[in-house]
Amino acid sequence: MADAQPMPAGGEARGRKPLGAGFLVEATAPEDIFTAEDLNEEQKMIGQVARDFAWQEVRPLIEELEHGHHEHSVALLRRAGELGLLAVEIPAAYEGLGLDKATATLVVEKLAPAGSFGVTFGAHTGIGTLPIVYFGNPEQKRRYLPKLATGEWIAAYALTEPDAGSDALGGKTRAVLSPDGKHYILNGQKQWITNSGFADVFVVYAKVDGDKMTAFIVERSFPGVSVSEEVRKMGIKGSSTRTLYLNDVPVPVENVLHEVGKGHHIAFNILNIGRWKLAAGNLGACKELIAVATQYAQSRKQFGQPIASFPLIQQKLAAMAARTYALEAMVYRTAGAFDASLSEIDGDAPDAGRQAIAAISEYAVEASINKVFGSETLDFVVDEAVQIHGGYGYMQEYEVERAYRDARINRIFEGTNEINRLLIPRELMRRTMKGQLPLMQALTRVQKELAEMAPLGPAGEAVSGPLAEEQALIANTRRLGLMVAGLAVQKYMQQLEHEQELLAAIADLAIELYAMESTVLRALKAGGNGLHADLARLFVAGSLDRVEIIARNALAAIERGDTLQVQLGVVRRLLRREPVNRVALGRHVARAVLEAGGYPLATR
Ligand SMILES: Cc1cc2nc3c(=O)[nH]c(=O)nc-3n(C[C@H](O)[C@H](O)[C@H](O)COP(=O)(O)OP(=O)(O)OC[C@H]3O[C@@H](n4cnc5c(N)ncnc54)[C@H](O)[C@@H]3O)c2cc1C
Repeated sequence: MADAQPMPAGGEARGRKPLGAGFLVEATAPEDIFTAEDLNEEQKMIGQVARDFAWQEVRPLIEELEHGHHEHSVALLRRAGELGLLAVEIPAAYEGLGLDKATATLVVEKLAPAGSFGVTFGAHTGIGTLPIVYFGNPEQKRRYLPKLATGEWIAAYALTEPDAGSDALGGKTRAVLSPDGKHYILNGQKQWITNSGFADVFVVYAKVDGDKMTAFIVERSFPGVSVSEEVRKMGIKGSSTRTLYLNDVPVPVENVLHEVGKGHHIAFNILNIGRWKLAAGNLGACKELIAVATQYAQSRKQFGQPIASFPLIQQKLAAMAARTYALEAMVYRTAGAFDASLSEIDGDAPDAGRQAIAAISEYAVEASINKVFGSETLDFVVDEAVQIHGGYGYMQEYEVERAYRDARINRIFEGTNEINRLLIPRELMRRTMKGQLPLMQALTRVQKELAEMAPLGPAGEAVSGPLAEEQALIANTRRLGLMVAGLAVQKYMQQLEHEQELLAAIADLAIELYAMESTVLRALKAGGNGLHADLARLFVAGSLDRVEIIARNALAAIERGDTLQVQLGVVRRLLRREPVNRVALGRHVARAVLEAGGYPLATR
């Protein structure tokens, strides 16, 4: 890559620190969210370095990577290290760049053309390195971070075991203190560990005294560490995935990360960051796929004309763009929230780990929402990209075939989408019980509003101007979500945790609300008109349809007879709307996609 230069340090956290999951109880002003349009020149320049690296250095090697030539992965990670791309989130005191999450988001996004090398990169810079960044003590940071920043050492994250996947705390790996008190002796195995073919450093989770989940920094060179052969996978074949065996491995006590018995805090909080980062990678993949599908549609002719001229193909491109716009709004809004929260941590303070836990867990709900929405948006986009390619999309010479297989893992790792859906209401309850989220007050307020039959719906909201109807309907979706959640709690009380279908419905309402609100706030911040407004309207129209179905089905599972009818009437009242002309909107958006040859906004 000729034109990629080492990057300058810099970057800053932005915005007011939002209340975690606060979008469920109150509206947010457009100026209070971070958007892709707020990225500054320095951040964009770093994004360009990542994009050039992906296109010019990784792309030519993709076929070989896909066939298991992992020596390229190591060389490419080192090259990424030379370019500064591995150092983005490592503090400057440890030879990193100490940049913000918005920059990290852009880097992950721009690596999308690198295919499954993005998974290799993400495992190293994210779940592999960040436990040391946030939970390491100064000595551990000094020993590991400079080497991880350059790629001299490569990191991996080892939590999953053959019998402990979603139930990650059910692992059997044990750590026993040696008689001289200098080492923990680790025994066990960790399954499907990304980067395990070549990683030098593993963050391994094991139980001390049989029950104290603890994180350890394990070096590959420690005696008793070994790995299996590569596993054979459906997709992301360019990434290395093996089993890690730990056989009487002596790990110095200095390599305990954070505290004995607190490993689960690290595991889950790092996954929170991983979940939102996964959505950033999904965003980049969506944008790439829209470009690939658009250009294919413009060149493929049937019935004497490019298939791009057919309205049904345009409808697909418009829907792909609208959902990607929503994902982009959500991912950068969440990046801004993490930046605001993490910028308050003093990494070298004695209680740095505790500060990190508080800062990251603040946005656990948003992280799970990003993960579910990002992976499912990518699945939608990649499926339509294959469809636009017709039979050619089924052929291995076309990159959508690989992209289709590669996309599938995203709904499985970093917590399956089922587990993330269950986490959303659980985390909401936890925050409510701890007094961190005024959910009960909001529930009471909404019940009162609904009982008083106040004039709700678009006409009842004090908003006017651009996207006014959408804003009013979003406010009513918030009311509806609170109503459904309140009725579910009233009916099932403590037993609600066994009603997974209802919990998932509550999660889906929260996901749609966060997606719609982020989308409209972004469009408003961008002026509330033109392409931004069209993309927002198109997305919101589809989202409201989904909200209506989810709410009706959830209520039918809670109530029956006349009571159900009354509640369904409230749903109708809250979501009363004139259908927007999605055909006209879709054609308008599709025209912009075709003119741009892909995703039509500047951050592409
Ligand atoms: C390619 C690849 C790379 C990976 N990389 C890593 C890595 O680097 N490090 C690492 O630690 N792990 C890694 N993993 C593991 C990954 O995180 C797990 O596969 C994932 O957490 C799911 O666990 P599982 O596969 O055991 O599925 P299970 O937990 O067995 O789940 C099976 C199904 O049951 C559902 N289910 C489970 N529990 C519940 C419940 N309570 N309620 C409702 N439904 C439920 C799940 O949603 C899923 O649909 C990787 C996996 C793959 C495939």
